[in-house]
Amino acid sequence: MSAQPHHEPNVIRTRHFIAGAIVDGHAARHAPVFNPATGEVASTVSLADEQDVDDAVRAADAAFPAWAAEPPLKRARVMFRFKQLIERDMDILAGAIVHEHGKVFDDAKGEVVRGLEVVEYACGIPELLKGEYTEQIARGIDAWTMRQPLGVCVGITPFNFPAMVPMWMFPMAIACGNTFVLKPSERDPGTALLLAGLLKEAGLPDGVFNVVQGDKLAVDALLDHPKVRAVSFVGSTPIAEYIHARAATNGKRVQALGGAKNHMIVMPDADLDKTVDALMGAGYGSAGERCMAISVAVAVGDETADALVAKLAPKVRALRIGNGMDQGMDMGPVITGVHRDRIEGYIGQGVVEGATLVVDGRGHRVDGHEGGFFVGGTLFDHVSPSMSIYRDEIFGPVLCIVRAADFASALALVDAHEYGNGTAIFTRDGHVAREFAHRVQVGMIGINVPIPVPMAFHSFGGWKKSLMGDHHAHGPEGVRFYTRQKAITQRWLASDVASGAQFSMPTHN
Ligand code: NAD
Repeated sequence: MSAQPHHEPNVIRTRHFIAGAIVDGHAARHAPVFNPATGEVASTVSLADEQDVDDAVRAADAAFPAWAAEPPLKRARVMFRFKQLIERDMDILAGAIVHEHGKVFDDAKGEVVRGLEVVEYACGIPELLKGEYTEQIARGIDAWTMRQPLGVCVGITPFNFPAMVPMWMFPMAIACGNTFVLKPSERDPGTALLLAGLLKEAGLPDGVFNVVQGDKLAVDALLDHPKVRAVSFVGSTPIAEYIHARAATNGKRVQALGGAKNHMIVMPDADLDKTVDALMGAGYGSAGERCMAISVAVAVGDETADALVAKLAPKVRALRIGNGMDQGMDMGPVITGVHRDRIEGYIGQGVVEGATLVVDGRGHRVDGHEGGFFVGGTLFDHVSPSMSIYRDEIFGPVLCIVRAADFASALALVDAHEYGNGTAIFTRDGHVAREFAHRVQVGMIGINVPIPVPMAFHSFGGWKKSLMGDHHAHGPEGVRFYTRQKAITQRWLASDVASGAQFSMPTHN
């Protein structure tokens, strides 16, 4: 996307939110934000420079001591009010997402709900921050642990979930007593400002939550800022690796969630109709722009594969594709024209590499939306592991069928892939399902569940190249990531007891 100044007279500018106010910032740079359903520039977004980032981090740093000193219950009460405001403005938030991202309205509401669940979890922060206590670790000595906030935490988020992914991060960070700077995707930056407004209305003190809009320049300034203590990133793997390395070198705590290529194994005993329904939603929902989308179906046995393709193909052809605000759509456009061209390039490459193109989504046009960034549902059969459509994350409505001889080779295929975000198995055999969950080298597993996104009170995270760092997002791991532990050992000697120096290692004897 161009970072050049873009002169559109009547176009809205999406700006920063620093110290409780929407601000222009210092930078002259801005970028266009498209409505993907029409292909028109819907707004522009300011792109922060180092000075804007410094302003946001300083605001967060200044707000930290007072916010960290608030009792957890008071922080929880802000989260309760925030939850109510999100419910009040659910349709406004979902509409804003559709406008900039393109996904279908109900899908956009679904993402807000999944983010809201993290807010609900964060409402329980007084319980979640409880430490451990042991009375009498030695005579007259007690010990306990407590978890304290880190300081300024940063979130850098992708375009595909402009509400949910930020809400994996900041409700937990803030409830734990940290302050936060969010750098949303410059491709759909508007939702972050709506959330900022709701947090302010909920009574969050100014400076506790800030938004800097921007691109690599803003990200690098955040990664290098000495006041930033922790960085949460979600996006593509090459950038996740970069963020992880740079933030860690700068001594920050970092969790960097990357890309995915999620496989669904279809066993010969699976209920095929239910499996096909699950594959349709998981492969083509949100136009395949989900990190937990299924992009590979591994059919065990040729008979299973043939039946699967026969049932899938007409449904893929019948997908209702259009403006996400229109009723009855299954799928909207993809995020940009550049991304549409990239997806279509992969489809062409798959044909060249020898896969069977069963349904071709290239060149899809929607009446009345001729400028929109649409790709039709695409289905490949006879895909092999050496092909680029198998190896790479396409992040579009492209489903690949790979044929495997048996369960063992299907499992080996999943394990050999460099990504390990999510995976699923569809079967009626409990033993096979149990073996799969036990052995597979992937972070999130579905058994007859196509998109096994953990609920807010569990934690979300992949393995292998799908996550760099030690902690998964939200849930108990979120509390651990956004706090550090202190262990206290205490003795109160009676005034009449003599002490005396002791030079050997203390033991309970
Ligand atoms: P992206 O990596 O291009 O961008 C993510 C963020 O990084 C954005 O805020 C962007 O401004 C910033 N960024 C981009 N290039 C940068 C650079 N060179 N230096 C510094 N910062 C940079 O990802 P995207 O296209 O917005 O999102 C799609 C990707 O996100 C997919 O790979 C998808 O799998 C992944 N994703 C992963 C998860 C997960 O939980 N693992 C969830 C959602 C999305």
